[in-house]
Amino acid sequence: MQDKIKSEGKCCFCGKTFAKAGINRHLKTHLEGKGLENKEGISFLLKVESDTRYGGYPYFLSLWVDGGTTMKKLDAFLREIWLECCGHMSAFRNPAARKNGAMWDFFEAEELLASGKTKRYEELMEQTAGEIPMSRKAKDVFHQDFKLEYEYDFGSTTQLVINVLAEYSFKADKTVVLLSRNEPLEIFCESCGKQPATQICTAHGWNEESMFCEKCAEKHAKICSDFEDCAALPVVNSPRMGVCGYVGGTIDIERDGSFVKK
Ligand SMILES: [Zn+2]
Ligand SMILES: [Zn+2]
Ligand SMILES: [Zn+2]
Ligand SMILES: [Zn+2]
Repeated sequence: MQDKIKSEGKCCFCGKTFAKAGINRHLKTHLEGKGLENKEGISFLLKVESDTRYGGYPYFLSLWVDGGTTMKKLDAFLREIWLECCGHMSAFRNPAARKNGAMWDFFEAEELLASGKTKRYEELMEQTAGEIPMSRKAKDVFHQDFKLEYEYDFGSTTQLVINVLAEYSFKADKTVVLLSRNEPLEIFCESCGKQPATQICTAHGWNEESMFCEKCAEKHAKICSDFEDCAALPVVNSPRMGVCGYVGGTIDIERDGSFVKK
């Protein structure tokens, strides 16, 4: 993996480009002005990032979420733009509410779900794992400076971190508004180092060459039978890139995929 990779996004209001570290400060200036136009209510500015504590690329989303939006709707949005491969389970968690060492009975949980006892299931998960019920509304979960975690797929997990950067006393334009996201990251072919990587061979570990440009992918297919058969995945603009069978999002597709050299 390359060391320093640039992560920047465009502001949906004015189209200007900002670095990951500055985009939300900028977005706030637009949102503050929305107080004059929008109906009274409650809404939040969220920073959603891939968990990069153990490496990984600096992906981000800036979202404006209405207080009436359920966690389920936010979950659906995250799946559509970044995560959905084959309908895995997912969860929002409040790290402060998680009881250290508390265990939940996996079979009990499964059974509650299977028999449609969703409410009891949600109670159990909230008490033990700090899991935030999907039916809960954003206004009953979020407040300024609240930080939560999100997991998609409890096996090959994609872990996200969500920060509530601001709280507003007016409604958002929609349930979830995509204000910005990182433009496709400049990830280069690990073989030639010159062209954008467009394909991943998932048969290799992180310390081997596994991301290829079109030309090098052709060469790789000749020496790696897995790549030809089943291990090829596209480079996409998401922290789930290269995991399970993930091939890209279903919304905002023009900013998905690999970057294009100018
Ligand atoms: Zn702007
Ligand atoms: Zn999957
Ligand atoms: Zn190459
Ligand atoms: Zn391979």
